Amino acid sequence: MSFSPASSFIYNANPGRVIFGNGTIAQLPDEIARLGLERVLTLSTPAQAGDAAAIAAMLGHRSAALFSGAAMHTPVEVTEQAMALVGAEAIDGVLAIGGGSTIGLGKAIALRTNLPQIVVPTTYAGSEMTPILGETAGGAKTTRSDPRILPEVVLYDVALTMSLPAAMSGTSGINAMAHAIEALYARDRNPVISLMALEGIAALHRALPAIADNPGDRAARSTALYGAWLCGSCLGAVGMALHHKLCHVLGGSFDLPHAETHTIMLPHALAYNAPAVPDVIAALGPVLGADPARAIYDLAGRIGAVRSLGALGMAEGAIDEAADRALANPYWNPRPLDRTPIRDLIARAWAGEPPQTH
Ligand code: NAD
Repeated sequence: MSFSPASSFIYNANPGRVIFGNGTIAQLPDEIARLGLERVLTLSTPAQAGDAAAIAAMLGHRSAALFSGAAMHTPVEVTEQAMALVGAEAIDGVLAIGGGSTIGLGKAIALRTNLPQIVVPTTYAGSEMTPILGETAGGAKTTRSDPRILPEVVLYDVALTMSLPAAMSGTSGINAMAHAIEALYARDRNPVISLMALEGIAALHRALPAIADNPGDRAARSTALYGAWLCGSCLGAVGMALHHKLCHVLGGSFDLPHAETHTIMLPHALAYNAPAVPDVIAALGPVLGADPARAIYDLAGRIGAVRSLGALGMAEGAIDEAADRALANPYWNPRPLDRTPIRDLIARAWAGEPPQTH
């Protein structure tokens, strides 16, 4: 996006060390030593327990314990189990290996203890680059931002993303693109983040179809992970709008899966906002073409993603409730929120229809 000399902005940079490459996990022991950690707790989901144990073994005597109970939406009961281990094992640092669910658990521990975190992301969701934590207690999800939540070191290793299933890779990648799209029209947008956003969107737009065709394409995996880093940085730096609110509501109230919901909603949310942000649509032109909302819908089709909330299991009768919830305590949005077109876009997303700008 071209910078106007009349622009004014505030840019808050998040501190953090990023290591990127193929095979970078070999640098993990040095990174642990660099932080002076002696008793590391390694975190994962049950599905990634084997990988996490193998990586923890690289740390030798500095690996004090493993906890493989991370779960979606960071339930506080799970955090409390891990916290018991933190106390019992005199843990002095946390190593999270996995996607947003595992990273969320590490963040929840850091919020409570201020322990340093090393994160090894294995999806494209972007949580590792943000000081944001969403926690679930008693069925309600609350989100907060705090400097203690931001990981100190992020180690991206392309090799560890090769096992991410093709379907999850595609939706996780579009989840990342959503952070960058909303960063472009954020109220607190700035030129640095806009550069990162456009580069991140372009990288993922190139890489995701190649990964869908051949999940073993290491070059495409590398491009996607690079894009995910950029998009995650956008999420960590500026405020999000309608799209993230809709996904928060749909995930929280109707228990819809995170990355898949983002993939379905992004074309519709962008189409809604398009008339209010012609400069953003113009900037996206060289990357996504003249109709970026349609391009993302087509990308979702190209990678074989589900494009309908109905197909994800949401009842048609819930559309009105979703619209009401989206309008309650709304996030700031570049286009004012009107119930009729918001309900209409949710209905289109429910049916799996293409996005419509009006
Ligand atoms: P996830 O972490 O729930 O992972 C989904 C599944 O994929 C898990 O079973 C996991 O073990 C498995 N998996 C992950 N990487 C794998 C790999 N390379 N190979 C094989 N299996 C692998 O999914 P996600 O989409 O990364 O994270 C979603 C969660 O993250 C949500 O709770 C969301 O709210 C949160 N999130 C938070 C932020 C933030 O800034 N706070 C940002 C994005 C997402």
